[in-house]
Amino acid sequence: MINTNYTNRDNYIFNQISHYANQYQQTHHAPPIKIGVGDAVLPISPCVATAMSKACMALSHQDTFVGYGSEYGLPQYISAVQQLYNNMEVNLETTEIFASDGAISQLCDILEILDAQTIAVPDPSYPVYRDNALLSNKTVLPLLDDNYLSSLPHQTVNAIYLCNPTNPTGMCYSYSQLCSWVDYCIATDTILIYDSAYSCFVQNMPKSIYQIPHAKRCAIEICSLSKSASFTGIRCGYTVVPHDIPYANQAWRTRLSYKTNGVSLISQIGGTAALSKKGIQHTDNCTKYYLENVKVLKQALTANMGLVCHGGTHSPYVWVSCPPNTTSWQLFHHLLDNYGIVTLPGVGMSTAENYHIRVSGFCLKATALEAKRRLEQGGYNS
Ligand code: PLP
Repeated sequence: MINTNYTNRDNYIFNQISHYANQYQQTHHAPPIKIGVGDAVLPISPCVATAMSKACMALSHQDTFVGYGSEYGLPQYISAVQQLYNNMEVNLETTEIFASDGAISQLCDILEILDAQTIAVPDPSYPVYRDNALLSNKTVLPLLDDNYLSSLPHQTVNAIYLCNPTNPTGMCYSYSQLCSWVDYCIATDTILIYDSAYSCFVQNMPKSIYQIPHAKRCAIEICSLSKSASFTGIRCGYTVVPHDIPYANQAWRTRLSYKTNGVSLISQIGGTAALSKKGIQHTDNCTKYYLENVKVLKQALTANMGLVCHGGTHSPYVWVSCPPNTTSWQLFHHLLDNYGIVTLPGVGMSTAENYHIRVSGFCLKATALEAKRRLEQGGYNS
């Protein structure tokens, strides 16, 4: 028998978007331009490429070949992550940091060590939180938006997913807002699963939940190099499971020991280089580049289309309100059919509402400028 939680799922939003983009290409004999997805487009830092190439060559020599590594992570990679936190004035022990193959697996797998039945999930949010909770037979409590940020749960839950900066609304929680989440979780004995996949985009606000007092007592932080260092294909990230959450660190170790043989050595060597001075400089440049794209797109959508945009200051995403009586799929099709522009209909990220689309700065500058040029040709009714 196959688990029906898997067979009864709806069509994944990204498959539906690809279908319409392919259809457009067939009809127009040219691909549409894509400003909806959250995939990196800039190349990795040369220092990462060099480190990985050297590591590959080392594996091809008898003297320097190595086999399995630690399932918890390569020591130099873990130290590089520790240093990254030190730079934010957060002290972590190396035993609290675990290498990962990116955030998505961790966001799903973390539920395995929690004795948690009811999981609070922001709505809208990255669909994986909800979909995985449902696949795992959990009860999902949607946390509805208050001004494009989630509000605290109104009923008891065992764990909460929180993404900062948010996907898809492109907003960022302030220091005092994050304090409220941490205080709530400590007071109610709730685990906070904090997704900081986009933290490199945050400026002058907390990037890590551990910058909030006492957060180590309730929060597990999951981060990745996907968006910061163009590792979406390479796959490398890190998960912090503090010793201050009773039993959590040991439980996560046990899980890793029983179920994994660690993360690709080459990825972790690349990750170590990505967290070096040169690597971080590269991240800063890429982040600025994507934020510039966001500015161009936001301005074009506001000035030319008369659309109201949210987010996009501490985030690569802009959450765009649809015109009155227009659904997110209708606006998606309008932009695709009239301008050859692919966005992301917000309904794919929300069960509660259907009146926004997500626009992403993860594109080449030329793509953002071309989108702007096309949008300048007319407003929504053109
Ligand atoms: N968290 C959020 C909010 C995301 O949007 C994504 C990917 O788009 C991920 C996590 C997964 O990232 P990774 O490539 O590290 O698995």
